[in-house]
Amino acid sequence: MPSAPLQEVVLCLGQPVAGNPTQYMMEKAFAGAGLDWRYLTCEVPPEKLSDAMAGVRALGFKGANFTIPHKVAVIPYLDELTPAAALIGAVNCVNRVADKLVGDNADGKGFLQSLRKTCNPAGMSVAILGAGGAARAIAVELALAGVAEITIVNRQAERGESLTTLLREKTSAKAEFVSLNDAFSVPPEAAIFINATSIGLGDDSARVPVVVESLRPDLIVADVIFNPPKTWLIRTADERGCRTIDGLGMLVNQAVICFQIWTGRQPDSDVMKDALEEFLEV
Ligand code: NDP
Repeated sequence: MPSAPLQEVVLCLGQPVAGNPTQYMMEKAFAGAGLDWRYLTCEVPPEKLSDAMAGVRALGFKGANFTIPHKVAVIPYLDELTPAAALIGAVNCVNRVADKLVGDNADGKGFLQSLRKTCNPAGMSVAILGAGGAARAIAVELALAGVAEITIVNRQAERGESLTTLLREKTSAKAEFVSLNDAFSVPPEAAIFINATSIGLGDDSARVPVVVESLRPDLIVADVIFNPPKTWLIRTADERGCRTIDGLGMLVNQAVICFQIWTGRQPDSDVMKDALEEFLEV
């Protein structure tokens, strides 16, 4: 009897991770590509990250996704970062190359791929609500894609200013910070408005602090929230006649990029999208 080869294993590490749809998407994609790989979702509290990373190395896992709260904290445990991940300062995908763990960030690239189905953002002016991990990844990738001006709007000034400084010092985009006090009025020169905060996660009635009248019909409005996909912002922008982009595409695209990084193969993105919609029952 021929000996069975060892299966490659990839992980999702985070806390909380119950309800994370990535395992369902990845396992369907592995099966669709004829790969006998496994994807495991593991609840890892911050104080156990060090042990978990030793385990990743000791057990020879092929790679991992990192989600809240590990995207920044995992960096000291890695051997290398891609230039984009180093610029963003956060990692959502780790790949083992020989005995080295290499950190990458597919969140912003996934968003950009979604946006490119609607427009080429090069030369445009963009307003981003939020300055956390998702906002940083999106802002850096937009700047690298040639966006001319980025306005960062955030509640905590320190995080907003830090992202604005990063964009000014490390990219060619013009950047300004606007403190979020009340509702933000999208300026007329902005062509794209993005909610990159967690407002709306699990709550389709949660209002994003934006002046509804500033959502012009020629504005492109995007939301990173994928559950539920029809957020208050997406519904309101639809009613105002804007072109809208929900968070599902970003999630599928970043998963496609991670699949490519680990396997070197192109997955069927429709299989992943169908799996995500089935999982979320949307
Ligand atoms: P972080 O915790 O790093 O950042 C959260 C951001 O939301 C901060 O800017 C925070 O502002 C802001 N925020 C939260 N609550 C409020 C509020 N009530 N009023 C104003 N601002 C608020 O989270 P991430 O950036 O990692 O994730 C953000 C969202 O993006 C999550 O919901 C996540 O699920 C989603 N996401 C979606 C992806 C996709 O593929 N579709 C991929 C990655 C993330 P402050 O700094 O002032 O606290």
